[in-house]
Amino acid sequence: MKFTIACLPGDGIGPEVSESVVRVLNAIAEKFSHQFEMSDYLIGGCAIDATGNPLPEETINACKSADAVFLGAIGGPKWDDPNNKVRPEQGLLKLRSELNVFSNIRPLTVFPTLLDASPLKPELLKNVDFIVVRELTGGIYFGAKHKGKDFATDECRYSVREVERITKVACELAMQRDKRLTSVDKANVLETSRLWRDVVTGYVAENYPEIQLEHQLVDSCAMKLIQEPAHFDVILTENMFGDILSDEASVLAGSMGLLASSSLGDGCGLFEPIHGSAPDIAGQGIANPYASILSAAMMLRWLKLSNEADAVEQAVQQAIADGVLTRDLNSDSQVSTVDATNAVVELI
Ligand code: NAD
Repeated sequence: MKFTIACLPGDGIGPEVSESVVRVLNAIAEKFSHQFEMSDYLIGGCAIDATGNPLPEETINACKSADAVFLGAIGGPKWDDPNNKVRPEQGLLKLRSELNVFSNIRPLTVFPTLLDASPLKPELLKNVDFIVVRELTGGIYFGAKHKGKDFATDECRYSVREVERITKVACELAMQRDKRLTSVDKANVLETSRLWRDVVTGYVAENYPEIQLEHQLVDSCAMKLIQEPAHFDVILTENMFGDILSDEASVLAGSMGLLASSSLGDGCGLFEPIHGSAPDIAGQGIANPYASILSAAMMLRWLKLSNEADAVEQAVQQAIADGVLTRDLNSDSQVSTVDATNAVVELI
């Protein structure tokens, strides 16, 4: 089969891990006789430098007409001044909004051979396997913003429809798993959270009565993720809470460099590692490519290429079990981004 993939390498380590994805997809194309037409487009800081716009029209059009989009990462110190009118993250937020990818799905599995890579005690990490479902196109990140001389405001807004559609995504995932759903909010303080809690409760009771639903406040959830991470199956939460909790959860796995994500809506899928552009290691060839490669596996599964997705996931698992670990997972390691990618490509 033939697929068009828009690649958005972005900034920092983005181009390094994006190159790994291209090589892995080419290996899959060869093994399974597919054709992946992959072209690079600008987003983020590099797009600002080249065009003055963090998300040029050409990129939007290419993403909308592609079967799927892979994004490396955006941002870096060069463009980080919060007072700049044009900033890289505006490109990412606009892309999510243009593609209407309202659900961000972030699976968290702890690889058995990496128990020691996490700062948590290994016994806490046994049986940790959950998914964070984060609402991606609403809430405080997208609300009206105002910065005056003496004060600033960010509006947080959620509609019933926005909460219902993300709840449906989380319920569908829970039904394929252990049928346990934890909805996270701050209903003791925020009106948007009280609406969120009411809508989730009603929607689950009406449409998915077999799901065991619990509600947790975001502060206690942040604590429980560290105290008892194996408690969770599917975590459903709003945009900002999901952003923070999924970064916290990445520590359980041992490195940001392991966590993949997909962002889905009604149309095109966007697949990206959860990490940023890691400016501290950019250009050194030592970035961990596994999060990006696993994001490509999520892309393949979404394109209904399950055997191909299995092949990628198994190759990454085997490479990790074989000890092919970049420096974020083993401080003595000399394994480069290219070495880790070679291992996965050879295993495929
Ligand atoms: P970061 O995720 O880039 O880095 C955090 C830490 O994790 C760093 O020490 C980094 O070296 C390490 N790390 C991250 N990915 C790694 C990988 N694949 N292999 C090895 N180590 C890895 O977060 P940050 O430092 O807070 O942000 C850096 C820049 O990235 C900022 O400009 C920020 O705005 C941007 N950012 C972009 C995205 C995105 O593109 N989706 C997400 C988060 C942050």
